[in-house]
Amino acid sequence: MYRSHNCGELRASHINTEVTLAGWVQKSRNKGFIVWVDLRDRYGITQLVFDEERTPKEMMKRAEDLGREFVIQVKGKVIERASKNPNLSTGDIEILVSELTILNESKLPPFTIEDETDGGEELRMKYRYLDIRRNPVKESLMFRHKVTQEVRNYLSNDGFIEVETPYLIKSTPEGARDFVVPSRMNEGQFYALPQSPQTFKQLLMVGGMDKYFQIVKCFRDEDLRADRQPEFTQIDCEMAFIDQEDILNAFEGLTRHLLKEVNGVEIEKFPRMLYDDAMRLYGNDKPDIRFGMEFGELNDVAQHKDFGVFNNAELVVGIAVPGGNSYTRKEIDKLIDWIKRPQVGALGMVYARCNDDGSFKSSVDKFYDQDDLAKWAEVTGAKPGDLVCVLSGEKNKVRAQLSALRMELAERLGLRDPKTFAPLWVMDFPLLEWDEDTERYHAMHHPFTSPKPGQLELLKTNPGEVKANAYDLVLNGNEIGGGSIRIHDKEIQALMFDYLGFTPEEAKAQFGFLMDAFQYGAPPHGGLAFGLDRLVAILGGQETIRDFIAFPKNNNGRDVMIDAPAPIDDDQLTELSLKLNLKS
Ligand code: ASP
Repeated sequence: MYRSHNCGELRASHINTEVTLAGWVQKSRNKGFIVWVDLRDRYGITQLVFDEERTPKEMMKRAEDLGREFVIQVKGKVIERASKNPNLSTGDIEILVSELTILNESKLPPFTIEDETDGGEELRMKYRYLDIRRNPVKESLMFRHKVTQEVRNYLSNDGFIEVETPYLIKSTPEGARDFVVPSRMNEGQFYALPQSPQTFKQLLMVGGMDKYFQIVKCFRDEDLRADRQPEFTQIDCEMAFIDQEDILNAFEGLTRHLLKEVNGVEIEKFPRMLYDDAMRLYGNDKPDIRFGMEFGELNDVAQHKDFGVFNNAELVVGIAVPGGNSYTRKEIDKLIDWIKRPQVGALGMVYARCNDDGSFKSSVDKFYDQDDLAKWAEVTGAKPGDLVCVLSGEKNKVRAQLSALRMELAERLGLRDPKTFAPLWVMDFPLLEWDEDTERYHAMHHPFTSPKPGQLELLKTNPGEVKANAYDLVLNGNEIGGGSIRIHDKEIQALMFDYLGFTPEEAKAQFGFLMDAFQYGAPPHGGLAFGLDRLVAILGGQETIRDFIAFPKNNNGRDVMIDAPAPIDDDQLTELSLKLNLKS
């Protein structure tokens, strides 16, 4: 028996008990005649005591020599502490050690194993196993476990079956590049790692599986924007014989359950918003509705004056910043610099101060009188004391820029409280989106998403206008899940591939198996997938997903601990019939 108790367990009620503990040396304090050691394991910290009077000399010497992160086992008696530590669950007691065994020594760790460590991100990732000993990371991993357990419980109780689908597959388009794996046995051929189990879960519906879920790794080779991972985890779900309402209810139920069990937050009904409204009111398809600051479109009231910038713009749009009239000129200038940064890309900003006496003072007073500005305030919902910030330009760009400003200001105003949860369904996404680079339409969600009933005709005349049976679940300004009702008719699926620019041969080569399956009685079906990493991070009140992933990759897609990716040797290449053609 290595231990009778763990390091977070012992209380005053255990005083006089003989115990055996094992763990890591967090730190030791040597007063000469007395040595205290903090012993740590996953469960907590227990103080050990060695002193001249009661500890044999030889053991005293070994206790003095214990280094940080040594792995030790001790036997001893639980005694009452002279000075108690109310901040520690075991703070009432200490262990008077009678036997000390060093199980393993440790090199001095490259950073301190404390909640606030001196190790930078890259260093902590290189020694991630040490990082995991720290409370914030350990607790995040345990929190993730709780969330996944709750997901499994809830879905299993609701009749969902967890089915594993393969990782070595053929490409599934989810809008990114595939990671590919060469096949040794099939010379010159490659598997793709799944960007999602999309086609497999649809085939499970054809297979009669009815209600499926899987907590599953997905792989997407994209340029890593901040806080993305090339491999990430989804809670992937699919249901047959359902309509959109059934799906929304099922997964709203799951999310509600998680908020309640994990966060103790009860939310009755999740609001719903059309995609078009989300874009109009928040300039964003994943609006953070924990706070207002809704957009007010100002074309009607701000154009046709003498201000050319606005007159020439496709959209003039503003927000009211609560209390923003208190900003100094310098602060406003800084804000303007902020939105002009290349990451946001606005050309400038017009503003109007709403004074307490009901008058206005704007940066464009030359063109707009008090009545005009009163209309700006009305449209943006600004009150005396607020600041109206106005951007103009091409609709999509301006919306994105003002959305960035809205989020930034809300952050500065403390309106994005991580302990407040505001879920939202965003519905009726466009089916297709125009891609400037390839000058073609792409499926906005994926090519298996069905258009809204009655909109097939519109596909021929005005494809950009067609709406899809597609929905996203948004939480605190993050997309935590998304899905759609699928096409289950072979002809319509073939038509869809055609619109997306696949020749019939290409469609057959890539998705023949799905089209074939659709000929054997495919039931109506649909589903969605949650991004588990992000969901866990948000429920955990954090912005970054890395701490919730045991062994994450860095922004270059590298695992700096195991040093991957890495070259393979020539024999392996030969076996795979591969020849490198490196650019550098
Ligand atoms: N496969 C989709 C995705 O990964 C989700 C879905 O449509 O169910 O985003």
